[in-house]
Amino acid sequence: MPEQARPLAVFDIDGVVADVRHRLHHLESKPKDWDAFFAGAADDPAIPAGIALAAEYGRDHDLVWYTGRPQRLRRTTIAWLRHHGLRAAVLHMRPARDFRPAPRYKAELIAGLAQRAEIAVVVDDDAAVVEALTAAGYPARLVDFLPRDEALVEAQDRDGGT
Ligand SMILES: [Mg+2]
Repeated sequence: MPEQARPLAVFDIDGVVADVRHRLHHLESKPKDWDAFFAGAADDPAIPAGIALAAEYGRDHDLVWYTGRPQRLRRTTIAWLRHHGLRAAVLHMRPARDFRPAPRYKAELIAGLAQRAEIAVVVDDDAAVVEALTAAGYPARLVDFLPRDEALVEAQDRDGGT
């Protein structure tokens, strides 16, 4: 029996289960204050609809987390997920000095995962990511639990930071 017997449900974090709005103002300054933006991650409120969706998929899928958050937030992110009752066994984070735009970073990551396991769904709040994944043939699901804030759209689409 292979270890990865169940199909994967891949979940984004920011804007799906974590509400980042309280720290977006750090990206509205010039220059953008990425350190302060990421430092606030431990205090993100949960998005109840996203937490419920992840828990639902987690019943018959292996949950895999992927995020554009940098590696230095690994411990903070795992503690946050566990605090909200979510399994955090597999967490893919953006490598240091990786400035690929989010759609490219995430599509390449999913392509790698798909070589080892069946991808049942990828859940993301970034329309450009979902579009790239769908175009590549993966089952991607767009969620819009939070209103799209200009600072977040810019962070994701142009800076490749989240
Ligand atoms: Mg997101």
